[in-house]
Amino acid sequence: MNKIPLKEKYPLLPREERTGLLIVNTGNGKGKTTAALGVLLRAAGYDMKIAMFQFIKSSAALSNGEHIAAKELGINIIPLGDGFTWLSENIEEDKKLAEEGWKLVAPALQSDEYDVVILDELTYPLTFGWLDKNAVIQAIKNRPKGMHVIATGRNAPPELIEAADLATEMHLIKHPFREKGIGAQAGIEL
Ligand code: ATP
Ligand code: MG
Repeated sequence: MNKIPLKEKYPLLPREERTGLLIVNTGNGKGKTTAALGVLLRAAGYDMKIAMFQFIKSSAALSNGEHIAAKELGINIIPLGDGFTWLSENIEEDKKLAEEGWKLVAPALQSDEYDVVILDELTYPLTFGWLDKNAVIQAIKNRPKGMHVIATGRNAPPELIEAADLATEMHLIKHPFREKGIGAQAGIEL
């Protein structure tokens, strides 16, 4: 069989001719971050420039499978959080951390350096009021035209859904931890 390389069959349009989508993965089922990583893999196949920011993950997560693999692909996944931040006893600390993180994210959303920007677990700083929801959504809307943005996290605020081009709710049917107390598995959760 004579295979036509994907990039020849569906060439990547110049960025200004692309339609940048705002994609929201929300819901209480597993798969929100995994789906974003799936896009990262696809986009990497087109040599698109990708940045992934993680609002909850701490730098300890840098040894997770996706961080190691992304690094090998030349993609930076940047943790901005403090681990399980929602359990933190110091809300002011959480807020400060989210604000510091936003100082890295905001310029990335404005720059024409990236084709895809992933804002993993963005919904939490919005829901908990660590970041100004309207300002964040406005910054996403003001991004360069051809940039795709993916936001993940449970309970996406209605304003974020409203702004989205594509919103998917992961609905929990079964989860091994809930069903059988089965813990995180390498390659599946980390
Ligand atoms: P993943 O990163 O695996 O795609 P996610 O982004 O949809 O998951 P998060 O809310 O970010 O979900 O939680 C990440 C971790 O919590 C994963 O280890 C996942 O297996 C676990 N998890 C997700 N949903 C559930 C659930 N409904 N019950 C128990 N654990 C869950
Ligand atoms: Mg997630």
